Amino acid sequence: MVVFRSDPCGITCIIFTYIAVLYADYVVIRHLIIPSMAYSLWGAFHVVVFNTILFLLIISHLRAVLSDPGIVPLPTANIDFSDMHSGNCISKSSDGWTVCMKCETYRPPRAHHCRVCRRCIRRMDHHCPWINNCVGEYNQKFFMQFLFYVGVSSLYAVAMVITAWVLDPAPVENVRHIKLLHSIILVIESILFGLFVMAIGCDQVSSILNDETAVEHVKREGHRRYAKTKFALFQEVFGRGHPLAWLCPVQFQPVSMETPLQYRV
Ligand SMILES: [Zn+2]
Ligand SMILES: [Zn+2]
Repeated sequence: MVVFRSDPCGITCIIFTYIAVLYADYVVIRHLIIPSMAYSLWGAFHVVVFNTILFLLIISHLRAVLSDPGIVPLPTANIDFSDMHSGNCISKSSDGWTVCMKCETYRPPRAHHCRVCRRCIRRMDHHCPWINNCVGEYNQKFFMQFLFYVGVSSLYAVAMVITAWVLDPAPVENVRHIKLLHSIILVIESILFGLFVMAIGCDQVSSILNDETAVEHVKREGHRRYAKTKFALFQEVFGRGHPLAWLCPVQFQPVSMETPLQYRV
C-alpha cells in the first residue's frame, strides 16, 4: 500500500532533501571530479561510486516515504466504547491490546496514535518530517538505510573535497573562487546532515537494542519483553535476510508478528 501525506512541513523537508542531494552531486562531479580527475580512471570510479550511494539513498528514502509504516486498520463496524468514556473499563488488556479513542478501534500492543497521520501505527517510533511519514514497524528498515546512506554520502563528499584540493591546489583564479565557494557550502551541508543522521541513527540503534521505541521511552511505557538476542532484535527491524542484505532497500517481510492484525470483537 502506498501512502503519502499532504503535510506541508513534510513536503518541504522532502523537497529540501532532494535539492541537497542534487546540489551535492552537481558540486562533486562538476567542480571537484571533472577539474582534478578528468583524465584519470579514478574520476570515473568516484562518479560511479558516489552516484550509486546517492541512488541507494533516494530508493531507501522513497521507500520510507511511500511505505505503509504499519497503519492499524479501522474496524469495518462501529465499536461501542461508551463504557470507556465513563471510565468503567480498563484501557489496557492483559495481552497488551489497547483502545484508541481517536480511531475508535482496538490496537495491538506497541501501536500508538500519530497526530499527523491521524491513525494508529504499529510499533510507532516517531513521526519524521524528513520522510513525511511515521517511522513504524514496516518502514523503520528503510528509514535507517536512508540515515546510513546520508551518512556515507556526507563522508564521501567531504573526502572528495579534500582529494580535489590536494590534487589541484592552485586552479586559475576565477575557477578557484567558484570551487572554494562550492567546497565550503558542500562541507557545511555534509557536516550538518552527517551529524544529524549520526545522532538519529545512534538513537535508533539504542532503541532497537533496548527493545523500546522512542514513543515508549517518552511515555515510560513498558511492554512485555521476551528474552531476545541482539541479532534477533535487529532481525525484527531488518528481516530474516543475511545482514549484508539489511543495506538493500528491497521488499520487507516483517518478522515480528506476535500480534496478528485481527480484531478481538
Ligand atoms: Zn489512533
Ligand atoms: Zn505519523
